[in-house]
Amino acid sequence: RTFSELKLIPELMEAIEHMKYTKPTPIQAQSIPHALKGKDIIGLAQTGSGKTAAFAIPILQALWYSQAPYFGLVLAPTRELAYQIKETFDALGSAMGLRSVCVVGGMDIMDQARDLMRKPHVVVATPGRIMDHLEHTKGFSLKNLKYLVMDEADRLLDMDFGPALDKILKIIPRERVTYLFSATMTNKIEKLQRASLKSPVRIAV
Ligand code: AMP
Repeated sequence: RTFSELKLIPELMEAIEHMKYTKPTPIQAQSIPHALKGKDIIGLAQTGSGKTAAFAIPILQALWYSQAPYFGLVLAPTRELAYQIKETFDALGSAMGLRSVCVVGGMDIMDQARDLMRKPHVVVATPGRIMDHLEHTKGFSLKNLKYLVMDEADRLLDMDFGPALDKILKIIPRERVTYLFSATMTNKIEKLQRASLKSPVRIAV
């Protein structure tokens, strides 16, 4: 498999070349074709597998076509992972004019509120902090959320973000695309899958 077989838009192909990705990793080769067709995906993959680009590439391509007011939300268990994910979105998408912000605990909440007011295309967040903004940042809502990623979902649940996830899943539009990535498949992850994904394609690498 090559990236050119994946039928990506030239803007993304250029960014991928710039990042010196020569060919898709297995998780990318298996998930991107389904993702580009608008399917929900559950991916069993470890960090280091290239899973970030596996969801960033199709989301950026879809955002390029759909544009405002729709946006993507990536939920990650830790601040460090959230910043890494934002970096991947920026490296792939900033030349396309697609902007991302990071909204995590421990950072200035007013700065984040300002970032959110600028209507970024992608919000990378920890669940607790995004709930804070939903409650306190006027004008911020999830009504235009079109793409949802739960990354390292097993760790999200281990860190007791389950209740925040449930709340988020309750208020976001049903008409959306959802990706769930986890390193392990447990009963709790299966339950989360049933609560959040529609006829997902299952990929394990
Ligand atoms: P991840 O599993 O998303 O944390 O990615 C692990 C590392 O692999 C990151 O440093 C990525 O920049 C890199 N990477 C992702 N996709 C590719 C690819 N297709 N070719 C080479 N490196 C990649």
